[in-house]
Amino acid sequence: MNDIAKVTVLGTGVLGSQIAFQTAFHGIEVTAYDITDEALAAARQRFAGLAATYAAEVPGAADGAADAALARIRTTTDLADAVADADLVIEAVPEVLELKRSTYEKLAALAPEKTIFATNSSTLLPSAIKDATGRPDRFLALHFANRVWVFNTAEIMGTPDTDPAVFDTVVDFAARIGMVPIPIRKEKAGYVLNSLLVPLLHSAAELAAFGYSEPADVDKVWRIGTGAPLGPFQIFDVIGLNTPYNIMVHGDEKSQKIAAWLKENYIDQGRLGVATGKGFYDY
Ligand code: NAD
Repeated sequence: MNDIAKVTVLGTGVLGSQIAFQTAFHGIEVTAYDITDEALAAARQRFAGLAATYAAEVPGAADGAADAALARIRTTTDLADAVADADLVIEAVPEVLELKRSTYEKLAALAPEKTIFATNSSTLLPSAIKDATGRPDRFLALHFANRVWVFNTAEIMGTPDTDPAVFDTVVDFAARIGMVPIPIRKEKAGYVLNSLLVPLLHSAAELAAFGYSEPADVDKVWRIGTGAPLGPFQIFDVIGLNTPYNIMVHGDEKSQKIAAWLKENYIDQGRLGVATGKGFYDY
């Protein structure tokens, strides 16, 4: 069993900063790598913001624990230095296949043999990346959800080449940093959560966009009929309407009609979801 003591996070944007902070919060030394000093300056601001959020929202984080996490994160723009002694590299660079592959090609040459590589990619299968890693047996996906300290699932998904011992090490690591590990036994686009959520949201939007039922009534039947705390349109509002719009506008004819409905009735009215104070509901 490979004990994970040193973690490097590549990319300190929305998710990378959260993954780095969550890992440090659970007592592990973290190196956060990004490509420019400006990106690292933004990262330090994100970390400070996360420290304040954890202190307010995470049990046990006040009284210095969140600040102690900050002290466990070091930042660098030097990739060789970032990975020189890493047990685990978690990659959270932008969702562009060629960028991910070129990042892994550089990593392959710089990281020691022991290092496990994990991608946080939401939509790319690890199989599409594995041959760029130079170590497909030590490579897999470790997928976090936005706001990791609240939505604390970690979906773990290898390729047929991933060593089962590496898979288990990453499952253990996820639990150690306060996540609920969800092992996925075969590669599946969308992992578990999005395999369930995307069709639900699509069907809900179809019911409303084609005039079968009002969004609030769709939500009501879902909540009452299943006991779920939120209906699909409440979930749309939490996600924000731009992301589903951008996906549906590139879909089939039906999806494009739903996208047009979303745009005309909500997005163009500034109703983008919780973040803008109004979406399908007012907040
Ligand atoms: P982001 O744009 O907020 O952050 C990307 C970061 O990567 C930026 O800081 C950027 O400077 C840096 N970067 C760019 N090129 C780089 C390189 N070559 N090497 C290292 N860093 C580089 O993106 P994000 O939303 O944090 O998404 C990152 C990954 O996480 C994507 O694969 C995405 O699918 C996944 N993800 C995102 C979410 C989400 O809700 N945002 C949820 C789960 C997974």
